[in-house]
Amino acid sequence: MSIELELTDVDLFYGRVHALQGLSFSVGEGEVVSLLGNNGAGKTSTLSMLSGLYRAKSGSITWRGADITQAKPWDLVEKGLIHVPEGRRIFSTMTVHENLQLGGYQVKDKALIAKRIEESYELMPRLFERRNQQGGTLSGGEQQMVAIARAYVGGPQLLLLDEPSMGLAPLVVKQVMELISSISAQGTTILLVEQNARAALKVADRAYVIESGKVTISGTAAELSKDRAIIEAYLG
Ligand code: ATP
Repeated sequence: MSIELELTDVDLFYGRVHALQGLSFSVGEGEVVSLLGNNGAGKTSTLSMLSGLYRAKSGSITWRGADITQAKPWDLVEKGLIHVPEGRRIFSTMTVHENLQLGGYQVKDKALIAKRIEESYELMPRLFERRNQQGGTLSGGEQQMVAIARAYVGGPQLLLLDEPSMGLAPLVVKQVMELISSISAQGTTILLVEQNARAALKVADRAYVIESGKVTISGTAAELSKDRAIIEAYLG
């Protein structure tokens, strides 16, 4: 498996707040890698930086061997790094179908957009049933599915998911995680930020625990699910 995304010794500041402190991790081709950690650990900052919203002060970030440490948001979208931010943020006055179409705004091949929307509906028949319903009237879980499907329509090479389970009932979390597995099965590489370690370790191949802006524990999902420190801190 070749490494696609690699962060080496990355520091990120917000003014004087030292949010990422020598963060290093990697994501291999086709992997689902999860970043776990408590509030304020630096997970959201990591994803925001990977989509070019914030700039690392030092360290390096490479994507498929190319340095992207200083890349702009639009360059990163062009490379296929697609971010589904925390809190879903779908367009509430647009229909489900319109939201999905928007996901393909930078895709030139219109037939490909239609095919990916079709695939999204196959994976989530519920969205097909609600394709003409306004986004704002959907349940939280349905909105999360639209947000993820919209990113999928953009043809992600690396899907950056920020807390997709947040605020959802356990059964709905399970459905969202199944959707993530299905997208992974299509060959998409995924970086999944989660506070819900239990759910994340079920879909992830590997995971990193982040505390105060750096990695403190890492391993395969199978190993971490059995790790006493992880169980006590995150699965207890
Ligand atoms: P959460 O799950 O609560 O979002 P997180 O692990 O994603 O937590 P971050 O949101 O990345 O953590 O925050 C990391 C640190 O950076 C925190 O100390 C936070 O207060 C700080 N921080 C985040 N965003 C900003 C900002 N825009 N300005 C100043 N400080 C910030």
